[in-house]
Amino acid sequence: MNPTLDELVHDLRARGERLTVQRRMVLEILCASRDHLAVQDIQQQLHHNGIELTETTIYRILQWLKDVGIVSQTDLGRTGTVYQLVGAHPHHHLVCLSCGTVIDVGDDAIMPLRDYLRREYGFEPRIDHMAIFGLCPVCTAAGKEA
Ligand SMILES: [Zn+2]
Ligand SMILES: [Zn+2]
Repeated sequence: MNPTLDELVHDLRARGERLTVQRRMVLEILCASRDHLAVQDIQQQLHHNGIELTETTIYRILQWLKDVGIVSQTDLGRTGTVYQLVGAHPHHHLVCLSCGTVIDVGDDAIMPLRDYLRREYGFEPRIDHMAIFGLCPVCTAAGKEA
């Protein structure tokens, strides 16, 4: 399920997308990571490899990767925005509005939602990586309010 760098590069070229050295380097880092990454994480890894790119440049590359459907973007609240390859172990997140805890949820959890949207709206949803905000069990038990 996790596409290799070669497969992605091949696919992008076949679609006539322009793969610059910088774009390829960012893609390589996303492929190597099993987790999702923030812009700063990508910048740090590039720096580790001896390459300096500004956050703006990395952000633009990520927007392009999103546009071509290779990367998904999720806002995790105070953790910030994270990026991940589409198809790399699909999952979603429950984000606590009180303490900031992030709980991972398997993709199976939203299958009923996809089915419902197809059935009731004839809509083919693209939900690759979703964040649901609320209260974690600890904060709920402590009587916190979101
Ligand atoms: Zn995630
Ligand atoms: Zn909490």
